[in-house]
Amino acid sequence: MAMEVLEKELEKLKDTAQLSNSLANVDKIIDLLTAARSEVERANDPHVTSLTLTKLQNPVQRGLDAVLDDLKVVHKGQVKFGKALEKALTTDKDTKGSLPEDHDPMAQHPTLINRAIAMHLLREGQFGVASAFIAEAQPQRPQSSISQLQSQLSPLSPSSVTSPTSPRSPEPYESHLTPMDELSALQSETLQSSFAEMYSILSSLKERKLLPAINWARSNCAELEARGSNLEFELCKLQFIWLFKGPSVNGLPDTPENGRLGALYYARENFGRFQHRHIREIQQLSCAMVYASNLPASPYRSIFDIAMAFDEVAASFTREFCSLLGLSAESPLYVAATAGAIALPQLMKFLNKVKGKNTEWTTTQEMAFETRLPKSMVYHSIFVCPVSKEQTTAENPPVILPCGHVLARESLQRISKGSRYKCPYCPNEGSVKDAKEIIL
Ligand SMILES: [Zn+2]
Repeated sequence: MAMEVLEKELEKLKDTAQLSNSLANVDKIIDLLTAARSEVERANDPHVTSLTLTKLQNPVQRGLDAVLDDLKVVHKGQVKFGKALEKALTTDKDTKGSLPEDHDPMAQHPTLINRAIAMHLLREGQFGVASAFIAEAQPQRPQSSISQLQSQLSPLSPSSVTSPTSPRSPEPYESHLTPMDELSALQSETLQSSFAEMYSILSSLKERKLLPAINWARSNCAELEARGSNLEFELCKLQFIWLFKGPSVNGLPDTPENGRLGALYYARENFGRFQHRHIREIQQLSCAMVYASNLPASPYRSIFDIAMAFDEVAASFTREFCSLLGLSAESPLYVAATAGAIALPQLMKFLNKVKGKNTEWTTTQEMAFETRLPKSMVYHSIFVCPVSKEQTTAENPPVILPCGHVLARESLQRISKGSRYKCPYCPNEGSVKDAKEIIL
C-alpha cells in the first residue's frame, strides 16, 4: 500500500523535477555571453565594449531569474517526495509491526558490512563510487588526510569502461591502523585494475569482439584448465563460427581473414592446442565446412545458431574471471539483500502473529519458517544426483563436468563409455578425467 503511494509520488517527482528547463535557460545565457564576446572582439573599441556590456545586463538577469524559478520547482518536488517517503516509512512501522530491535546480529560488524558494500561497488565496476564510499567510511580521519586522499587522482587506463570520475587511491595509513583500514586495503590497485580489465573485456564482448577475452583466457589457461574450464575453447569456437558467418553477418571487412576462408585459417592456427580435449567438436566444425552452402538444412544447424552464444560466453567469462580472483560470480551483497527483501514480508507477518501470544522466537541463528527463494539463490549443502536421484556421499561425491552440469560420480561412471562421456543434460561430450569433484 505504502509502496503504491510512493510510486505515485515518484511519478509526480519525475514530471516536476526536471532540470531540462534550467539547462535550456543556462544555455541561453551562455549564448548571450558568447555573442557579446565576439561582438566586443570584432569591434575592438572601448565604446562598443561598454555599450555591449550595458545591453547585456537585463537579458542576463532575466535568464538567471528563470534558472532560479526552474530550480524552485525542482526543489519543491523533492521536498514533497521526501515528506511522502518519511510518512510512508514511519506509519508502516507503527501499524504493521516492527522488527525486533533487541538482537541485531549485524550491529557488531559495521566493518564487515562496509566491506561488503565496498566490494559490491568494486565488482560492479563503480570504481568512483567505491572510492568515495571507502573514503567516507573511514572514521575520524583528520580533515587534512581526507583532502589529501581526494587530491590523489589515479586515472585508470583510458580504454577501461569506468564512471567518468577517476578513482582515487588512498595511501595506506600506517600510523594509526583501525579496523576500517581493511577497507582501504580493499581498494588495492590490483583488485581495481582486475575489475577494470573484466569490464573492458565484457564491453568488447558486447560489441561482438572476442579477441580480448580469448587473450585473457589464453594467458590464464593453466588456472582455467585446472578448474576444468572450457572457456578458452568455447571462445575460440565462437570466433570460428563468427568468422564463418562472413561480412554480411559479422560486419567485419571482406578480406581473406574473414568468411569461410578466414574461419579455416583461424581453425588451423588455433585449434591445434585443443585437440587433446575437444577433438570431437573440432571434427564437427570441420565437417560443417562441407555443408557451408546450405548450413540451415544440415545436421550442424544447432552449432551455428549463435543467437545466445555471446551472452553465454560473457556469463561464463564473468564466472571464471571472478573465480580466479577467489570470488563468486554473483555479488554476495546483492544475493543477501535480495533474499532478505523476499523474506522480510513473511517475517513481519510472522512477528505480528506471535506478538502478544507469549510465544517467543528463541532461535537466533535460524528462521522460524521456511522462505522460498528463486532457484538461483539456493546454495545446496546437500546434493541429490539428478540421474540416480540419490543423495551424494563421501564415497559417491558430486562431480562437475566442464559444461557446468553436476552429477554423482557413480552416475557418471554408469553413463560413460570407456574414458569418455556424453553429458545427459546438454550436447557436451568430454573425458571422464575432466570431471572434478566438488565439495559442498
Ligand atoms: Zn552438460
